[in-house]
Amino acid sequence: MNTNNTTWGKDVFSLLSWFKIDTVKNAKVLVVGAGALGNEALKNLALFGVGNIVVVDFDKIEYSNLTRSVLFREKDAEQGNYKAAVAAERIREINPYINTYAICGNLATDVGLGLYRRMDVVLGCLDSLMARILLNRLSFRAGKTWIDGGIGDLEGQVNGFRLNENCYECSLTDEEQSDLEARMSCAGVSHENESFGRVATTPVSASIIAAVQVQEAMKVIHESELKNGEFTPLIGKMFHYEGLHPATSILDFASYNDNCPSHEHWENIVEISCLGADTTVKEALQIIKSELNVDSVEINMRNDKFVDILEARSDNQKYYPMLPESKIPEYIAASEELSTRSFMEGALYQRVFENIDDEFPYPDLTLKQLGIPYWDVLQISTEKGYAYVELFADAERFKHLFS
Ligand SMILES: [Zn+2]
Repeated sequence: MNTNNTTWGKDVFSLLSWFKIDTVKNAKVLVVGAGALGNEALKNLALFGVGNIVVVDFDKIEYSNLTRSVLFREKDAEQGNYKAAVAAERIREINPYINTYAICGNLATDVGLGLYRRMDVVLGCLDSLMARILLNRLSFRAGKTWIDGGIGDLEGQVNGFRLNENCYECSLTDEEQSDLEARMSCAGVSHENESFGRVATTPVSASIIAAVQVQEAMKVIHESELKNGEFTPLIGKMFHYEGLHPATSILDFASYNDNCPSHEHWENIVEISCLGADTTVKEALQIIKSELNVDSVEINMRNDKFVDILEARSDNQKYYPMLPESKIPEYIAASEELSTRSFMEGALYQRVFENIDDEFPYPDLTLKQLGIPYWDVLQISTEKGYAYVELFADAERFKHLFS
């Protein structure tokens, strides 16, 4: 980080009654999605001087993105660069006094819950229902507020979600709920990458909606001012903008039902400093047993599962991917033989490991190879009930974010 003694925004933002320059400088914000909304949100966060920004996106830049992405250039599309990496670099050009970290991957299978836990607020700049559901679940597990933005044509909306108050999954319509159930039951599909629910977007709606998201994020960052009632947050409310027949409105929008699978808060997390995603299964099981002082340990694969065998139902031909379930579509697509077979519904059977214990046949694989990301939190079943352990050895990889 640049140690120049210029304090970003000192002469400008100090004029705002609510703005605390050190609070903003120390803030940690996770932006999931670096498309149209993500570009605008990231730009605003950098201009405000938010000191630590993590960007997540699995996608690469295409020419069509250039029409509504202020941070991308033609050469990025030419080179097919990753959105997250380019966005993180460009906002440091805007403001060199911030720390950024890019994760070119999936919000659930490539981002550890340890990182979610360290954030002050999460911004969802997403374009699919499945990705929003995953982000809702992860943010709740980590106990974090998340601000969702959505755009379509010349309209858009912003919603704030927080555990015990307002839940994205509870707000789904019956139709969305049944679509979701159908998709959740479809094994072998990388859900986040689905185009279901995607709509056309414009640079104008992206600017407006992302601006409101960032304003809401600034409120969450200013925790004590928020508690003192200096702000009214959008939690349980919806900001709606309509551009064709100009109108903005704030609507009450809070849904919170019993028995929703999103309402999980992972508490009493044990940070284990000798445990990381590069630890082998065998070692990890031993370490967890000893740290938790239990005899029986089962790692529950909550975000990804592990697939060792694919078998064609027609002729029992076997393939051995040895990969996380989220990587199976890629594995199939890369093989000419397999991609023809999988074209038929149910043509392939996959053997999936949902829980990892002493019986797991590949104890020398690392947790990473099973599909567990760096700095994740694992849900563990023990004879005493559930426990949660964090892969704290991996925190080292992110240390520049928290300097
Ligand atoms: Zn819910």
